[in-house]
Amino acid sequence: MRRPLVAGNWKMHGTRASVAELIEGLRCLALPGNIDVAVFPPCLFIPQVIDGLAGKSITVGAQNCAMQSQLGALTGEIAASQLADAGCSLVLVGHSERRLMLGEHDDLLCRKFAAAQVSGLVPLLCVGETLAQRDAGQALSVIKQQVGIVVERLGIDAFARAVLAYEPVWAIGSGLTASAQQAQDVHAAIRAQLAAENAAVAGTVRILYGGSVKAANAAELFGMPDIDGGLIGGASLNADEFGAICRAAGS
Ligand code: PEP
Repeated sequence: MRRPLVAGNWKMHGTRASVAELIEGLRCLALPGNIDVAVFPPCLFIPQVIDGLAGKSITVGAQNCAMQSQLGALTGEIAASQLADAGCSLVLVGHSERRLMLGEHDDLLCRKFAAAQVSGLVPLLCVGETLAQRDAGQALSVIKQQVGIVVERLGIDAFARAVLAYEPVWAIGSGLTASAQQAQDVHAAIRAQLAAENAAVAGTVRILYGGSVKAANAAELFGMPDIDGGLIGGASLNADEFGAICRAAGS
């Protein structure tokens, strides 16, 4: 039985004041005991969030890390080892906003994934197709390639200490959500792809769904057999809404 994970990606939102309010809201939530909860604040706020959530069972992750784990000359980047030192446990890798707007390619993403693991962080690898790719019937092949490159470069065992998120690009921040069945079909395909390499890893890896998840649609999505929780963008900026999504994952 996989333990659900609900993760909030705060993206490039927040000020010290609004983050303090959000922390307060999260502290007040009664979270289900049978799920894991994580938040990914902008890097600048990670210490504030870790301190603010002390004693609350919410882990903190980063939205990005450098491609090398060791410290060194790489202006503007933050090493996974620095994130671990700051108290992070997870890091997003391959979010579509970084793939598409910042040109992050598979080679770089594999290096970030590996750097995260070397530093003791759990990488949360995001994959997903654009609308044009879905309309062209390429959704499954695109995702197979995005997952496959990591398996090929780092080996299937890398997924024993990782989380995956299927995030159709057309559903992110758009208000459009994949239907529960559409999402389940992709999640099952990812799991089958991993199972062809190692059934035990495929059976235990958590595959989250992300893309306009809110309290109103969370229960249906999380009720699907291969959906193990959610990566939540916009709705994670509202503590009450995020709490309701967490409750849906725990029920
Ligand atoms: C995301 O950015 O990971 C995401 C899922 O965003 P939203 O929930 O706002 O669609």
